[in-house]
Amino acid sequence: MNPIARLKYLWHRREEKENKISLMFYVCLFLIIIVDFIFGYIFYYESKVMFVVNSACLLCNLFIYHLYEQNKRSMGLYLLLTQLYVFMIIATIVMGWDYGFQQYLYGILCIFFLPFYIPDNSKNKSLHIILAGALFIITYYFLSYICHYTRYSSGLINPTFSVYTIHALNSSVSMAAVSSFCILSSMINNEDKRKLKRKADFDELTTLYNRYGLNEILTEMMDAKKSFYIAIADLDHFKNVNDTYGHNAGDEILQALANKFLELNRDLIKVGRWGGEEFLIVGDPKVGSKDFKRRLDKMREEISKIKFKAGKTKINITVSMGVAKFNPKKTIEDNVKVADDNLYKAKETGRNKVVG
Ligand code: GH3
Ligand code: MG
Ligand code: MG
Repeated sequence: MNPIARLKYLWHRREEKENKISLMFYVCLFLIIIVDFIFGYIFYYESKVMFVVNSACLLCNLFIYHLYEQNKRSMGLYLLLTQLYVFMIIATIVMGWDYGFQQYLYGILCIFFLPFYIPDNSKNKSLHIILAGALFIITYYFLSYICHYTRYSSGLINPTFSVYTIHALNSSVSMAAVSSFCILSSMINNEDKRKLKRKADFDELTTLYNRYGLNEILTEMMDAKKSFYIAIADLDHFKNVNDTYGHNAGDEILQALANKFLELNRDLIKVGRWGGEEFLIVGDPKVGSKDFKRRLDKMREEISKIKFKAGKTKINITVSMGVAKFNPKKTIEDNVKVADDNLYKAKETGRNKVVG
């Protein structure tokens, strides 16, 4: 795709996070390439060394564009950062401090943090940030020293100790401000994502997994291609409970029941609210058929003995359950249907039992 068509494409689909990041990258890269051309013109008259370095950077940027088109995005990003970093060091030393190439460090620092705005589970982010911050400050002082105290660079001004100290302090403060802002926004972003994930995966009333969360668990287990068991549990005559004691009392019973379900060993058995007053129970592949049914039957019996609070009275509730062996070749719905058929049998043959 030609660059203009690529930009148009990304602009129209900028709602997607991936495209937003790509769009930002392409715009940055185009601006850098334009600046390369302007510098090329200036360096041609000012410094032959920098003209050669700048031309190499221009070629490198065109190669980065090519890498991005090939979908090798992180490689492109890291090559861009390295190229900018090296260019900045050479340009500062060759041209001298007063040309301001050292200020690229702030820009590179911001681009460097780009992957941190994208929430993921990668570890050692803090270490990464501290190392990057330290490298940038060291580079800054190193360049400042070369430019002001040695003869390797043009534009020697030999500042007094106090000028140098204040300058160093000011640079550290600005660099710390940029880093803290990047860290903060990345932390907020990750926190928002965690909250959204909780909202998306868990049921508000019972705090158990909701259907979406259960589907995620089942899909993961299907991908692992191991055999396991599932069960659908449905409260018996729950409509009567609502009709007699009110919907709020019904809700409280659902919450109390969810807490009881959480007593099941959560490493081995996951429970979620499949919908209404129906719960889906998923056994770990380590839990065999007999063990799974034994645990469910024990749970069913314990539930039947609990005195649930319903308004001012206490009542007994029973559950019926239908079990099925999960078949990874079938869809989740089809597997749940098998458990549902067994649940129907449990209801037909007197309720308060586990069938399957
Ligand atoms: P059965 O033994 O055949 O299952 O009888 P049932 O009355 O439980 O019948 P069914 O499962 O079809 O009825 C579901 C009832 O569950 C209907 C509705 O009043 C109640 N229900 C579903 N979701 C909620 C909820 O979130 N809160 C409350 N309080 N009640 C709910
Ligand atoms: Mg039901
Ligand atoms: Mg029911």
